[in-house]
Amino acid sequence: MLGEGIIKGMAETARNFLGSYVSDDRLTTVQYPEERTPQFENARQFPFLVFDGSDPLKGLRCVACQICEKECPPKCIYIVKSKDKRPDYKGQMQLYPVTFDIDLSVCMSCQICVEVCPFESIKMDTAYELSTSDRFGGLLVSKPQLAKPNDHYRKIHPTDAALSDAALAAEVAKAQAKARADAEAKAKVAAEAKAKAAAPNPVAPVVAIA
Ligand code: SF4
Ligand code: SF4
Repeated sequence: MLGEGIIKGMAETARNFLGSYVSDDRLTTVQYPEERTPQFENARQFPFLVFDGSDPLKGLRCVACQICEKECPPKCIYIVKSKDKRPDYKGQMQLYPVTFDIDLSVCMSCQICVEVCPFESIKMDTAYELSTSDRFGGLLVSKPQLAKPNDHYRKIHPTDAALSDAALAAEVAKAQAKARADAEAKAKVAAEAKAKAAAPNPVAPVVAIA
């Protein structure tokens, strides 16, 4: 029937409108900003940098590999690598970002930076109240603003954070097992060399006594 869809839509609207006076389930809006709807776990806005421990800058997982900078479609990530190195979460010496900026006025929340990061360093935040009257400088966020603790990640994306924690714990265990195996192999080589040096030389020349 011509216009059937419009009639059905109007009926649904009327049902929600009248129903909202008697049932909260029919309320499709809230009194923002006094009220806020809970965020879904897979909600995403803009990226942030994860840090471990209590020092936001020393604990950053980012090793300034610049993969995210290269892969970001609108090129809104800017990174400057350090000249020196410091230990990462596995105890391996790594570079770190001296500068890490993201221009939120350009970011399109595609999450590609998160997908390509091999170090679980960059994740999508759910914060959305970021409006500012400074269109350029106010939306250019740098390392201190981007750095957020792993607990924040666990809070906003618990399922993904648990997977990320498990992956990192497995890597740490692997690195520790390798370090132990290397140390044992080194100790074995050293012990063999010591034993060889202490053993009498079987081909030592015999001195003839006249
Ligand atoms: S979410 Fe997309 S656009 Fe935004 S910084 Fe990451 S890769 Fe770039
Ligand atoms: S956030 Fe990840 S991909 Fe980007 S520079 Fe840091 S370690 Fe590399």
